[in-house]
Amino acid sequence: MGKNQKLIIIGSGPAGFTAAIYAGRANIDTTIFEGMQPGGQLTTTTEIENFPGFPDGIQGPEMMEMFRKQAHKFGAKSIFESINKVDFSNCPFKLFSDANKEYSADAVIIATGATARKLYAKGYEDFWGFGISACATCDGFFYKDAKIFVIGGGDTAMEEAIYLTHFGKSVTVIHRRDEFRASKIMVERAKKNPKISFFMDSVLEEFIGEKSGPIRKLTAIKLKNVKTDEITEHQADGVFFGIGHVPNTEIFKEFIETDENGYIITKGKSTHTSVPGVFACGDVQDFTYRQATTAAGSGCSAAIDAERWLGEQG
Ligand code: NDP
Repeated sequence: MGKNQKLIIIGSGPAGFTAAIYAGRANIDTTIFEGMQPGGQLTTTTEIENFPGFPDGIQGPEMMEMFRKQAHKFGAKSIFESINKVDFSNCPFKLFSDANKEYSADAVIIATGATARKLYAKGYEDFWGFGISACATCDGFFYKDAKIFVIGGGDTAMEEAIYLTHFGKSVTVIHRRDEFRASKIMVERAKKNPKISFFMDSVLEEFIGEKSGPIRKLTAIKLKNVKTDEITEHQADGVFFGIGHVPNTEIFKEFIETDENGYIITKGKSTHTSVPGVFACGDVQDFTYRQATTAAGSGCSAAIDAERWLGEQG
């Protein structure tokens, strides 16, 4: 086991890095575990237009690189491993990484965020990665001149649909209701795009394709209209999920109180969890706002809460 750390931050999105900036600047020995997706979800988005301070917008990966640089400037250290087990039964807390290493810390900030939700319809297992994706910015490039479908009615679905028009010959949004959850501005932008069309009141029933040993290719999907029960089949080269997220809390549930959807419960307006000395910030504890800006704000709160708590422990 390595030397005991003062503060370990798990997760490297806007929440984790902001916590690291504040903790580092408060002279707390801080280590940030960057995890499976260094930089978090923003590294898979396109342009961020609503983070204050960037009137011309900024690319997600570029912004996260700036966050990292700022955290390192104040002394935070990055470790590019994933924490896959914790033991919060006693302080110092124990953390175990995917590199088979054990770490310990006096205080922990959980900023593990959330992961794109998937739709496990019939055929999913056969065509995941061969026509089914949950990340337009990662995989869109492979769908040049393709017939693409995006599932969901929120901002993610609209953003993915618009982005995918750079590649596909057509993009169809499938939504299970007749009203969008997405913001008006995003819906308007999607509606104005001549490549985008919509199937409302529709759910995906099945993925269909060709399988020949390891070679697989999605060729069609079956949709059901939830109002008429009519089933229709459509030629499809690609299907992208834009149906929300699930919090990354599985490894903490044994020790930390979570709600019925798995989000970490924090006390009042603070970032204190049910375990004193363990704090949570960002999407892992916020199912309401889920914005880079709010995540960064709660990362700041977590660092201040952790600093005060460490101070109280002497
Ligand atoms: P949301 O939870 O807002 O939307 C999820 C969508 O997926 C909803 O329309 C929902 O339908 C649908 N859905 C959920 N589960 C299923 C299912 N099993 N089958 C079919 N459809 C399903 O998630 P988003 O990821 O879109 O957005 C999350 C947050 O991030 C929001 O606050 C959003 O504003 C923000 N965001 C902002 C962006 C920007 O400003 N550029 C870009 C992307 C996200 P229903 O409506 O019926 O519940």
